[in-house]
Amino acid sequence: MITAEAFGQLTHTLQETQATLIAVSKLKPVSDIEALYRLGQRDFGENYVQELVEKQAQLPADIRWHFIGHLQSNKVKYIAPFVHLIHGVDSFRLLSEINKQGEKYDRQIPCLLQLHIAGEETKFGLDEKEMIDLLEHYEVQRAQLRYVRIDGLMGMASFTADKAQVAAEFRNLKAMFQLARQSYFLGQEHFHILSMGMSGDYETAIAEGSTHVRIGSLLFGQRQ
Ligand SMILES: *Cc1c(COP(=O)(O)O)cnc(C)c1O
Repeated sequence: MITAEAFGQLTHTLQETQATLIAVSKLKPVSDIEALYRLGQRDFGENYVQELVEKQAQLPADIRWHFIGHLQSNKVKYIAPFVHLIHGVDSFRLLSEINKQGEKYDRQIPCLLQLHIAGEETKFGLDEKEMIDLLEHYEVQRAQLRYVRIDGLMGMASFTADKAQVAAEFRNLKAMFQLARQSYFLGQEHFHILSMGMSGDYETAIAEGSTHVRIGSLLFGQRQ
């Protein structure tokens, strides 16, 4: 069940900051997405390829689908025809596969590099050096990578009540975003997305410069 009130408050807050709201609908029924769609929401985020493909087929074509989970190279082909933005690119191999599938469907697929910013060990993503290595590699092969486009960075902060720590992690991501832009995307307007902030920490993320927040439970209630 979605709460129209939570949606209203959230969109109001975000309007002032101009951050884009991605409603994370993973594990929630199509009817919940339809309810939010009727309220005007168009950007939705999903974590699982099969679930995303099934939902996309049933829902309006003007929904912008964000893939925010960990993407395996062998599954890119299923979402390549329609995905709006892939948030979790964490290897050159995955970037190349997205390019290959983009070419097959004759569309340039926008992506974000996922950075590891949390203290916890379990989360996916690149560290700063790995990001630079990937971007160096990308720079050299850019002429062959015309069907993929890097639009920015994404990251997840530690799951902690320590707001100062969360803020520091987001600040670190923002610094890496600026470094990447300066060094590899200067004057390229498409590199503009900083995807950070979830239900528990989106206010901190926005204060630190987030352009896209990914919010699930605050809108749809707790997941099973
Ligand atoms: C599930 C998920 C979210 C949304 O989490 P909430 O805490 O429910 O807002 C955001 N980003 C990613 C990558 C997720 O996996």
